Amino acid sequence: MSLSSISPRGLVMGAVFAAATVAGSAGQALANGEVNIYSARQEILIRPLLDAFTQATAIKVNVVSGGEDALIERLKTEGANSPADILLTVDAGRLGRAQDNGSLQPIKSTILDQLVPPALRDPRGYWYGVSVRARPIFYAAERVKPAELSTYADLAQPKWKGRICVRSSSHVYNQSMLAAMIAHDGVDKTEAWAKGLVANLARRPQGGDRDQIKAVAAGECGLAIANTYYLASMLKSATEEEKKLAAKVAVFWPDQAGRGVHVNISGAAVTQSAKNRGNAIKLIEFLASDAAQKLYAEAVNEYPIRADVPVAKPAADWGPFKSDTINLAVLGKHNAEAVKIADRVGWR
Ligand code: FE
Repeated sequence: MSLSSISPRGLVMGAVFAAATVAGSAGQALANGEVNIYSARQEILIRPLLDAFTQATAIKVNVVSGGEDALIERLKTEGANSPADILLTVDAGRLGRAQDNGSLQPIKSTILDQLVPPALRDPRGYWYGVSVRARPIFYAAERVKPAELSTYADLAQPKWKGRICVRSSSHVYNQSMLAAMIAHDGVDKTEAWAKGLVANLARRPQGGDRDQIKAVAAGECGLAIANTYYLASMLKSATEEEKKLAAKVAVFWPDQAGRGVHVNISGAAVTQSAKNRGNAIKLIEFLASDAAQKLYAEAVNEYPIRADVPVAKPAADWGPFKSDTINLAVLGKHNAEAVKIADRVGWR
């Protein structure tokens, strides 16, 4: 479903049409209304969950899919007229941007306060994590010994000169990683680290996270920084070639004696314009529930937000890890400074 093919009016009309159809047969879905999601996650991944929600609540769920940044822009442009009730997207830095744009509203939910760990939700209730994404170090299993690895800070040491691959700093994942460092260590220390990292790069940043992992497999670099779900999807790939490449790369959890692995979230927020606010809150609460947590993390190869929900394979094979527990609202707060640091150190 492309964004341009569905106007807000089309979305509402479609919903009315579908509701009328259901009313004609069962009459259930109409009773409790509907809820409209702007989703940066592919509908095919989240549809089974949304159907389970509709089954349990008789609330119909309409989805408009789009790119992360396009949806945030669209919410901003539509303002109070937006048909969206929920924004479902990835990276707390992006949710912070939507919040800064005035596109989100805070909610109060004792269920969410209980189920979502404090680090993974906005302190004022503007957004909630629904899955965790870890950004550790990847290494070439044949050429690097895990004993050589320790912390993110170590990646700035001269011993790694010409051996590290990482994507461009123009991507929010790296901006968020720097933002977390700024929150912990301050601007100067973070800048010194970024400078050291750039000096150690094996090549000019290019491609996405998956390309960094592939470059490790290909021998172009010994280490990479990337999100784990990319390796998971390579391991589950339909092509033997991808599986073979993935098998050459291992995960190292840095900073286990210190503050832990840098993590981020996919998250959900109620929009400022929400006409179905109550239903939107119910849906976000559902996403944090036991059944949804297991299904969702599995579908997207990420981690549940809750420690009491088991991790699915292949992520489970990499073992448990300690994650950074700083509140992820700092990612949005320090984004602008992170971009400036990357610029100053020449991280393309
Ligand atoms: Fe990604």
